[in-house]
Amino acid sequence: MGDMPNSYTPDQIIRPEILALSAYHVSPATGMIKLDAMENPYTLPAVLRDEIAQLAAEAPVNRYPDASAASLIATLREALAIPPDMAVLLGNGSDEVIQIIAMAMARPGAVLMSVEPAFVMFRMIATFARIDYVGVPLNSDFSLNLDAMLAAIEKHQPAVIFLAYPNNPTGNLFDAKMISRIIEATPGLVVVDEAYHVFADKSLMGELARHPNLLLMRTLSKVGLAGLRLGLLIGRSEWLVQMEKLRLPYNVGIMTQLIAKAVLRHPDILLQQATAIKTERAEMNRRLSALAGIQVFHSDANFILFRINEANQVFQALKQRGILIKNLNGTHPLLKDCLRVTIGTPDENTQFCTALHAIIDRSA
Ligand SMILES: *Cc1c(COP(=O)(O)O)cnc(C)c1O
Repeated sequence: MGDMPNSYTPDQIIRPEILALSAYHVSPATGMIKLDAMENPYTLPAVLRDEIAQLAAEAPVNRYPDASAASLIATLREALAIPPDMAVLLGNGSDEVIQIIAMAMARPGAVLMSVEPAFVMFRMIATFARIDYVGVPLNSDFSLNLDAMLAAIEKHQPAVIFLAYPNNPTGNLFDAKMISRIIEATPGLVVVDEAYHVFADKSLMGELARHPNLLLMRTLSKVGLAGLRLGLLIGRSEWLVQMEKLRLPYNVGIMTQLIAKAVLRHPDILLQQATAIKTERAEMNRRLSALAGIQVFHSDANFILFRINEANQVFQALKQRGILIKNLNGTHPLLKDCLRVTIGTPDENTQFCTALHAIIDRSA
């Protein structure tokens, strides 16, 4: 086939914008202290793991899972205090939810808008789904530039705006009143992505009733179940019934449904872990701020963004010492010399701080 004279090569038939993409990069982390991906560093207690083992052993894996995941949704409604009049759509991670929304809105000429820097998947998925992307720069302190947002909304009339609350990779919460202004000024949808909600003590869930064009996303990934891949979209059913049409059948597997339900029956476990992570976040902030030549940005998430001279070299030196964080230098002008570290266990955080201290001392 491949040798036939008139067969196509990939660059002849794959969409040019896909050829131009580089795949989402996941760094190999075997044997390293992994502080790059906002994972919860704690595993589940032994009793719960035994319970999960039993559920897995008995799961009818020869059958398709419950397509509507009704029982899981009921558990989620209670665990996340979802308003009873709002609908819920489940995704294979919230990445899939973003993709469903983008596909639904991608009429010719439609615009998907976000801020920059923001979660990179907003832009990437816009490209996948063939919807035009517009990114509006944040202020240099990573707050919303409301005037620029309102002007861009006026100019582009976006079909949908994505805002992460708290924002990734910066860690801050945007001003809730400014978000309300944006929701009111937008003719289309505003999707507030609350992936880090459990670390933030703030939510716009209570605003859903006030705004007919507001949808909310949550995920179980950052709270400690990243391996299960479960994300949620919450909002009025007039929107979600349309999005449901794009959800692939059985997108949430049986293991995810069973294990998520089992874990959510003990909400105290993940909440205690989140509390421990927040305590460590304060400790990390204190330790990083004490180092000379570092600018630490306030975080309401389970990671901290900081600016440091020679960020590329510092990142590499940490890697050589077996510590993997995220290098954001070069990804956006506002992130010049910025690195992002996920909050790990107290021991991992100490190893990170000690290594960073030594690297700074050596280069001083
Ligand atoms: C990590 C992250 C997600 C992706 O979450 P999954 O549910 O694991 O796909 C979505 N939004 C933001 C802002 C994130 O940081």
